Amino acid sequence: MLKNIALLLCVFLIGCKGNSQQNEMTSVEKTAAKKEFTVVKTEAEWKAQLTDMQFYVLREAATENPFTSELLDIKTQGVYVCAGCNTQLFKSDTKFDSGTGWPSFYKEIEGNVAYDVDYKIGYKRTEEHCATCGGHLGHVFEDGPKPTGKRHCINGAALKFIAAE
Ligand code: FE
Repeated sequence: MLKNIALLLCVFLIGCKGNSQQNEMTSVEKTAAKKEFTVVKTEAEWKAQLTDMQFYVLREAATENPFTSELLDIKTQGVYVCAGCNTQLFKSDTKFDSGTGWPSFYKEIEGNVAYDVDYKIGYKRTEEHCATCGGHLGHVFEDGPKPTGKRHCINGAALKFIAAE
């Protein structure tokens, strides 16, 4: 009997370990494992193309420090594209000042952004990434302004701003 309980406990502990290891996978790895992206590059190719900060955010799902992005205060017309693959992700007219220190938008360019679930900091968040290259962008929250009520909280390092002509 005691042997059986010990065995069960063992199985349970191994099961838990498996789960926590899975949670330690970055969002980029998880989505890359699940989905096919149009733009696929090796880690070495991304490293050669991107700055350290862009690589850290886009490919390793890191978060830049708040109030550090040059894109934060841009209010002119234009479009924000993926710093990895130039896919258009957000339009300037959906940008708003969220006060968080990260570029924020109430709407994505539909179809160009994809979503996943992220438990990295212990609770459930909706992660968002470029639908073309899988690069991590940030997270979406439900406390944004009208008309969508969404707050796309995006790392400036994941974006490039293209001013309107
Ligand atoms: Fe991209």
